[in-house]
Amino acid sequence: MLRSPVVQAVGSAVGTLALAGAGTLLVVSVASGTATQAIKVYRARSALPCKACRGQKSYLCQVCRGNAVLEWPVSSKGRLALCPVCKGSGEQNCLNCLGEGKV
Ligand SMILES: [Zn+2]
Ligand SMILES: [Zn+2]
Repeated sequence: MLRSPVVQAVGSAVGTLALAGAGTLLVVSVASGTATQAIKVYRARSALPCKACRGQKSYLCQVCRGNAVLEWPVSSKGRLALCPVCKGSGEQNCLNCLGEGKV
């Protein structure tokens, strides 16, 4: 049984397409991987110390001002409660860099 030229032509076209598709996928995946790597390198190089915390990743708690405790409730003086923001540490994670120390 002879295969018709049309079938052969279609067959080779499909084969070429499949090959091209696989090649494109490979190129795209390699290119996107390279781009991701390049972005990482770029961000690492361009990262500056956070201005809000000066790269310390945290700063004095803005709510208790580092006292770790709050007068609570404000009306009944003398009663102290642990600061709910810093949980008594007197420091809070920098909200500008989210604790990264860099932006
Ligand atoms: Zn606090
Ligand atoms: Zn910061």
